[in-house]
Amino acid sequence: MSERKPLIAGNWKLNLGGPEGCELAHAIAKTASANPKVEVVVAPPFTALASVAETVREAGGHVGIAAQNLYPKDSGAFTGEISAPMLIAAGCQWVIIGHSERRQLFGETDDQVREKTAAALAGGLLPIVCVGETLEERERHETLDVVYRQVDAFLPQLEQAPGKVVIAYEPIWAIGTGRVAGPEQAQEVHHAIRSRLGRSPGRVADLTRILYGGSVKGDNASGLLGCVDVDGALVGGASLKADDFSKIIQAANAL
Ligand code: PEP
Repeated sequence: MSERKPLIAGNWKLNLGGPEGCELAHAIAKTASANPKVEVVVAPPFTALASVAETVREAGGHVGIAAQNLYPKDSGAFTGEISAPMLIAAGCQWVIIGHSERRQLFGETDDQVREKTAAALAGGLLPIVCVGETLEERERHETLDVVYRQVDAFLPQLEQAPGKVVIAYEPIWAIGTGRVAGPEQAQEVHHAIRSRLGRSPGRVADLTRILYGGSVKGDNASGLLGCVDVDGALVGGASLKADDFSKIIQAANAL
């Protein structure tokens, strides 16, 4: 049996910034307690982090809290930015880095992803770093070139802290489109990433969890999560409703 505990993370994006986020977190905390084989994380917007963290604490603390981004400096003249120490103070244990929306809409580069991953680890946060190809890149058969380039960018951090950095493989053409990668397509890329990590010293390949993300729902979760190199899911749309997200957690627990 794999020593990698399945991880199901919900990325709320620019949604649920008010009390409704706490209601959802409360329901998810109940599901998480009832499904102990799974590690559950939610990523609310910055403004809701502290209140959601408090809700989860009151409910027994079985849900991790992730930010959706961070700035790689601790403090200073960086108007509008949020640092790792601030996220820790707000109750976070995790941070999502390099989501395709940040790469595409905000021009985040591989170098920035590496810098942020290093800052997260230095500040005591566990990074979930996203990689994935566009539809055009897939059609040009460049999927593995793109994903290897993106993973290689934060390989030093993966090697520095084996098992602490989580990779989320999210084919961009499957995010929010309802067009999910089939289990074989997901497994092919996950296996390729793990093989790439096999070149690193020590047990990096064995210890690193690789999540799949892209239109994961209750009805397709079992097939994806059953793949040998898929260690969980990063979920967008279906993480916004307690019933939908709970079905994915239950599917992971049932494996
Ligand atoms: C995401 O944005 O990380 C994501 C996987 O979204 P969705 O599940 O909605 O495709």
